Amino acid sequence: MTPQTTDSTTAKPDTDEPLVIDTAGMSPEQRVAMEVAESARGAADSRDSFAGRMLSGRYEPARLQPFPEQNDADRAIGDDLVARVSTLLAEKLDAEEVDRTRTIPAEILDGLRDIGVLKMKVPAEYGGLGVSQVNYNRVIQAIASHCSSTAVLVSAHQSIGVPQPLKMFGTDEQKQRFLPRIAAGALTAFALTEPEVGSDPAQLATTAVPTEDGRHYIINGEKLWTTNGPIAQLLVVMAKTPSKVYRGRERRQITAFIVDTDTPGVETTHRCDFLGLRAIQNGVLRFTDVRVPAENVLWGPGLGLKLALQTLNTGRLTLPAACAGAAKQCLSIMRSWGNERVQWGRAVGRHEAGMTKIAYVAATTFAMEAVAWLTSHWADEQRDIRIEAAMAKLFCSEACWTVVDTALQMRGGRGYERADSLAARGEKPYPLERMLRDCRINTIIEGTSDIMRLFLAREALDPHLKRAAGVIRPGAETGERIRAGLGAVAHYAVWYPRQILGGRNPLRYRGEGALARHHRFIDRTSHRLAAAMLHAMGRHQAGLEKRQELLGRMMDIGTELFAMAAACAYARADTIVRNADDEGERLADLFCRQARTRIDEHFRAMRSRDGRAGNALAKRVLTGGFRWLEEGIIPCVAAEPVGREARSAASEGHRNGTG
Ligand SMILES: Cc1cc2nc3c(=O)[nH]c(=O)nc-3n(C[C@H](O)[C@H](O)[C@H](O)COP(=O)(O)OP(=O)(O)OC[C@H]3O[C@@H](n4cnc5c(N)ncnc54)[C@H](O)[C@@H]3O)c2cc1C
Repeated sequence: MTPQTTDSTTAKPDTDEPLVIDTAGMSPEQRVAMEVAESARGAADSRDSFAGRMLSGRYEPARLQPFPEQNDADRAIGDDLVARVSTLLAEKLDAEEVDRTRTIPAEILDGLRDIGVLKMKVPAEYGGLGVSQVNYNRVIQAIASHCSSTAVLVSAHQSIGVPQPLKMFGTDEQKQRFLPRIAAGALTAFALTEPEVGSDPAQLATTAVPTEDGRHYIINGEKLWTTNGPIAQLLVVMAKTPSKVYRGRERRQITAFIVDTDTPGVETTHRCDFLGLRAIQNGVLRFTDVRVPAENVLWGPGLGLKLALQTLNTGRLTLPAACAGAAKQCLSIMRSWGNERVQWGRAVGRHEAGMTKIAYVAATTFAMEAVAWLTSHWADEQRDIRIEAAMAKLFCSEACWTVVDTALQMRGGRGYERADSLAARGEKPYPLERMLRDCRINTIIEGTSDIMRLFLAREALDPHLKRAAGVIRPGAETGERIRAGLGAVAHYAVWYPRQILGGRNPLRYRGEGALARHHRFIDRTSHRLAAAMLHAMGRHQAGLEKRQELLGRMMDIGTELFAMAAACAYARADTIVRNADDEGERLADLFCRQARTRIDEHFRAMRSRDGRAGNALAKRVLTGGFRWLEEGIIPCVAAEPVGREARSAASEGHRNGTG
C-alpha cells in the first residue's frame, strides 16, 4: 500500500510515467495542462483503496468493519481539547460580532494558542501537540459549529499551510528550522491560486529564478485569495522554476518554497471581502524580487504541484468535519424550532413538510459524520485515501449547503434575518443567515465540486486507461500491442460478465438486519456503475474526457455509494450501538433510502439526451444567442459584445483602423 502521508525519507520524486491519456486532439494549452496535471497525480496505486475498488465493481464492506474508533488515550486527548476550545469560544467569542466587524479578537487567538490549537499539527518533538487527524478534525468540527471564520483560520494555517507539507516533504533541517517557530505561534498560509490560475495550476505565472551561484531563488508574481496571507509569518508558495527536458520534450516545472513574509518584496496589496467567512484575513500577495534561500525548496525542484495536490489530499479532510459540525448545529436548531413554532395549530416540525426536512437533515448529518470519521481514521492509518478524501469533500460540502438551506427554510422569515437583529427584538439568535453565507464556499475551495468529479473520474478510469494504453501507445511495437491486446481481452472476458451478473445474491449480507438490502444495493450498483464506465469508454473513447456531465453523474453515484457504505458501517460502530441503540441503524436506513432515489435519478439522466440539448443551447448563449432573454434588466456591469457581435465589432474596428 502506498502511504498517503510520508516523510522526507520515503518521499519519492516524480516517476515520469508515460501519459496514458491520448493528447493528440488537444490544443497546446490543453496538452500542457494535461501533462502537468498527470505528472503531479502521483504514482500511488488507488487499486488498493476501498472506494477505488468499489468504482471497479468490488464492494468489500468487511474493510469498514469494525468501524475504526479512537483508543481511550487518543479519545481522552480529543475530549480535553474539544472541551477547552468549546468553553473558550462559547464564553468569549461572539460569532456575529466577528462577522460584522470582520475581526477575530486577539484575545481569542491568544486563547487558541494557549490551548495549543494553533500547533495541533506540529509534532511533539518540535514543541507541538502532534494530535491525530481524528482529534484535529474533532476540534475543527467544534470550532466550525460556532464560528466558520475562526475554523478557516485554524485550518488554512495547519491543513494546507506550512506544517502539513513540511511534515510530509520537508528535510530534518527544514523541520528543525520552521516547526519550532510554528509551535511558538507563527501563523502560516498556502499560496497556490493566482488571478489567471484557479483550477488549472499548469498556467502558474509566478516565477522563481535561481541566482547564478544557485544559492537563492528570486520570486516574482502575484497570489490571489491566500487565506491568512495578510497575517502569516510563513507561506508555502508555488512558483514556476526553469523548465526541464524529459524524453526530448520541454516540461514545465512548479516548485514549492517556504517563504518568510519578513523577506523584502513580500506585500499584501488587498484584503479580500466575501459573501461569508467575513473575518478571515485573505489577501492578494505581491512578490517583487523576493530572495529565498535554495534550502527553502520543499521536497525538490519540479515537485511543487505534486506537493500541493498531495497536501490537499489530506488537507481537504478538514472540510467534511467542518461541514458535519455545521450540519449538527442545524439539527439542533431544527429540533428546538420544530417544537417551538406553532402554526395552523401544530408545531412546524410536526407538519409533514417539517418532518421531511428534519428527517433529511438528521440522516444526512449522520452520513456526513460517518464519512468524515472514516476518512480521518484512514488518514491516521496512513492509507492512500486520495479517492475517499475527494469523495468526502464532494459529498459533505454539497450536503452541507442543502442541509443549511433546509434548516433556513424551516425557520421561515427568521431564517433570513441576522442573528443580532433577532436578538435585538428579543428572539433566539439562531445564526442560520450567517451559516448559509459561510458554508457556500465549501463547494469551491480546496478543489471545486466540478474538479473533484473530474479528479475522481480520472482515478476511476485509470485501470482501464492503463490497459488501453498498451494497445494504443504511439511507437509501441506490433508484438507489444498484440500482447497488451490479448492481456486486455483475457482480463475483460472475466471482468465484464462479473459486472453484469454480480451482486445479485438475495441472501448476501443477511447478518446486517435492516441494512442488508442497502448493502445488496451498493454491491449491485457498484457492478452496474463499473460496467457503465466501461460502456462510456467504449462509446466515447478519447471524447469521454469532454462528457463531463456523464462523468460527473457517474462520480456522484460512486460518491453516494461510498457515503451509504460509510453510514451502514458507522451504524454498527461500538460507540453508536452502545450510546444510541438502534438509532444509528435508523439514520443509516433513511440516508440509504434517500441516496438510492438520487442514484436512480442519476442513472435515468445518464440515459437521457438532455445533456446534449443543453450543450447546444449553452453554446448558442455563449455566441450571442437568446440576447432578448436578458432584456428588461439594469446590467450590473457594462455589457461586452460576445460571439458574432464581438467578431463583427472587431472587424468594424479593423476597417476603421481602430482594431
Ligand atoms: C474564501 C476563499 C479562500 C481561498 N483560500 C485559498 C488559499 O488559502 N490558498 C489558495 O491557493 N487558494 C485559495 N482560494 C482559491 C480557491 O482554491 C479557488 O477559488 C478554487 O481553486 C477555484 O479556482 P477559481 O476560483 O479560480 O475558479 P476557476 O478555476 O476559474 O473555475 C471557475 C468555474 O469553472 C469550473 N471549472 C474550471 N475548470 C473546469 C474544467 N476543466 N471542467 C469543468 N469545470 C471547470 C470550476 O469548477 C468553477 O465552477 C480561496 C478562494 C476563496 C474564495
